[in-house]
Amino acid sequence: MKCSVCGGAAVIKLRHAGLRLCPEHLVARVEREVERAIRRFHMLAPQERTLVAVSGGKDSLALWHILAKHGYRADGLYIDLGIGGYSGRSREASEGFARAHGLSLQVISLKKELGATLDELVKLARGKTCSLCGTVKRYLMNRAAWEGGYQVLATGHNLDDEAATLLGNVLRWDEGYLARQYPVLPGEGKLVKKVKPLVFLSEREMAAYCLIQGIKYLYEDCPHAEGARSIALKGVLNELEDRYPGTKLSFLRGFLSLHERFRPPEPVELRDCPSCGMPTAADGPCRFCRLKERVSHGAPA
Ligand code: AMP
Ligand code: ZN
Ligand code: ZN
Repeated sequence: MKCSVCGGAAVIKLRHAGLRLCPEHLVARVEREVERAIRRFHMLAPQERTLVAVSGGKDSLALWHILAKHGYRADGLYIDLGIGGYSGRSREASEGFARAHGLSLQVISLKKELGATLDELVKLARGKTCSLCGTVKRYLMNRAAWEGGYQVLATGHNLDDEAATLLGNVLRWDEGYLARQYPVLPGEGKLVKKVKPLVFLSEREMAAYCLIQGIKYLYEDCPHAEGARSIALKGVLNELEDRYPGTKLSFLRGFLSLHERFRPPEPVELRDCPSCGMPTAADGPCRFCRLKERVSHGAPA
C-alpha cells in the first residue's frame, strides 16, 4: 500500500477521504484539518488563552499536542470524576502527557467541588449516569475556564462523536439540541466560548496520530459508557460507514451547511446562580448547586 501523497509505505487507509497515508502525511493531514476547522469557524487565535479539557484519551491529548505544537497558548484541565479505578488511570495519562511535554495541567476533583464522586452521585441523584456526568463536567469546565481568565475552552470531540450526537438529536428531532450542536459556541457573560477543532477527524485518524507521535493515552473506555445510547448510535454509524465510506462526514457536513435553519426554541435568559454566581436558566440555584445540596443532605432523591 502506497502513500497517496509521496508514494512511500502507507500505514493507514482512509476510505472516506480516498487516501492512503504514510506516518508523515497522516500527521500532516490531521494537523491541517485542525487548522482548517480553527480558521473556518474562527475558533481561536494564537494570542488567546485556551483551556483544553483533557480526559486522558487519544482525542483530547492529541488536540492539546497539536495546539501547543502550533503555537497556541493552550493549558490543560483534567476533571477527576472519581469513577472507580478508571479516573486514576485517566488522570495519570493526562499528567504524564503534561509532564512529558512541559505543559501546564490544572486538576480538579469532583469529590472536592461537589462533595461526592460520580459513582456516589449516581446513587443519590435522579438521572442517567452519562447525563449527570455531562452536567457536572460542563459546569466545572466552564467555571474553570471563566475563573482562570481563558478566552476559549476546547474539547476533543471528533467526527465519530459529533455524527453520533447528530444522529441522536435527529432521531428525537430535538430542535434545541440541533441548534446548539455546532463546532463553535460563542461566549456570553460567564459562559466561555467553546470549540471542537477535531470535528472533521475520525477516531481512527486520531488513534493513528497518537501512535505515530508517541502520545501515551488511555485505551480504556469509561466503564459507564457500556450500554450507553451513544455507543449504540456509533455502532449503527460504523456499520453504515463500512458499507458506504464517507457517511459520517457527509452527514455532519450536510448538517453544518443547513445549520442556520435550526433555531433554539426560545432565547433563554440566564441569571447568576445565587449560590455559586455562575450562569443558569433556573429560577434559583443552578443544577450543579442543587446536586451539591442533595449530596450534602445525603438522602436519595
Ligand atoms: P466524552 O464526553 O467523554 O465523550 O469526552 C468529550 C470531551 O470532553 C473529551 O474529548 C475531552 O475534551 C472532554 N473530557 C471528557 N472527560 C473529561 C475529564 N474527565 N476532564 C476533562 N475533560 C474531559
Ligand atoms: Zn507520504
Ligand atoms: Zn450554582
